[in-house]
Amino acid sequence: MQADTIHIGSLEIEVRFKAIKNLHLSVHPPFGKVTISSPEKYDLEKIKIYAATKLGWIKKEQAKLIAQNREGAKQFITRESHQFLGNRYLLKVIDSPKTGVKLQHHTLELLVSPNKTMEEKRKVLYTWYRKELRLVLDKLVGLHAQKIGLGDVDFGIRISKTKWGSCNTESKKIWFNIELAKKPIECIEYIVVHELVHLLERHHNKRFILLMDQFLPNWHIQKKILNELPI
Ligand SMILES: [Zn+2]
Repeated sequence: MQADTIHIGSLEIEVRFKAIKNLHLSVHPPFGKVTISSPEKYDLEKIKIYAATKLGWIKKEQAKLIAQNREGAKQFITRESHQFLGNRYLLKVIDSPKTGVKLQHHTLELLVSPNKTMEEKRKVLYTWYRKELRLVLDKLVGLHAQKIGLGDVDFGIRISKTKWGSCNTESKKIWFNIELAKKPIECIEYIVVHELVHLLERHHNKRFILLMDQFLPNWHIQKKILNELPI
């Protein structure tokens, strides 16, 4: 399978060439990624024109997916439910001169000085998410980069509304979405291996899939779990 990418304004569409008769457009959960499967003989200009006529539909589907998948906006108050590594915890906001987060059996204790705003509380929790995610990623990136034979791979964590991960093949640096801190380890592992494999193969083509099968045989299941969880 050959793959390519087209852009219409800010919209990115992945094109996969297959032995099929007609163009097939899909919008995928959870972020609304757009793909087009195309007969092998079609050229990109033709596909782009087709996609442009479907823009209204694409936007509507993306909005629907995002509305379905979003967990309610958080207020960072006691008894509110929050996720960490695939488990659900009740938040307990505790007045404290020291700022931080303590993970207990069923609760996430958020230690903040009184009268902190919602945004400040969110920041405390996300600083903790970042630190914890880095520990998990240090292990997973180290382990899989070695297995794949890539040597040391640098990574960073950032906020993204559109992607779980991305990579810069030239600088050999991978970026992970901080929201991964809420997901089960096997889902984080899938994103790690996916991005590492991109350092060998940029496109989502046949070779990419063979490499995924080789280095993470269960990737289909791990990916499915991730995409079915709310963001
Ligand atoms: Zn990819």
